[in-house]
Amino acid sequence: MEGKLIYFIQNEVSLAIKIGVATDPEKRLSMLQIGSVDRLKILGTMPGLQEKEAELHRQFAGIRIRGEWFRPEPPLMTFIQSYFDGKMAPFMKLVEHEPELLKLLEEARSITSRPKFCANEVWYGYPGSGFQGIKTRLTRLVGFYRESGRHPVLSTSQAYDVAYETIYEALPDCKEGCACQCVMAVLMGY
Ligand SMILES: [Zn+2]
Repeated sequence: MEGKLIYFIQNEVSLAIKIGVATDPEKRLSMLQIGSVDRLKILGTMPGLQEKEAELHRQFAGIRIRGEWFRPEPPLMTFIQSYFDGKMAPFMKLVEHEPELLKLLEEARSITSRPKFCANEVWYGYPGSGFQGIKTRLTRLVGFYRESGRHPVLSTSQAYDVAYETIYEALPDCKEGCACQCVMAVLMGY
């Protein structure tokens, strides 16, 4: 079977992104360039066939412009940035099985810091914090307590650790005087 690649080609003016599949994405780019006034560039490629392409099209259906073109918005941008960041490879393997994990990562990345910001408040969703804890939702997707049944990859403790660390790391750090430091202060008696 011939090797194929999924490509992400971006229009440098509209920033729209085309997700397609080709044997030679560079060649595909030059063909697409002929029909386009705007400059196009390849953001990246990954191994995959038509099925994988269709799966990605479904995953990002909410931001589809038309055909194979998508708006450059968080779910897709987070996916692309994470996929092409080598450190993120183990996490992106999990996303292949459970796309909802990407939404949690996106949510964590979208949270902005502020004075007394508390990462753990967002993570655990302390009562009264106004945050729906991320950890609770993570637990439903990956690890031993995964809700939709056992999965050879997702139900492992390694998968849980990878997802936990990656998403937690994406949160801004706790700031001086944050809620968890107050809780610790009470527990430790100072
Ligand atoms: Zn904190």
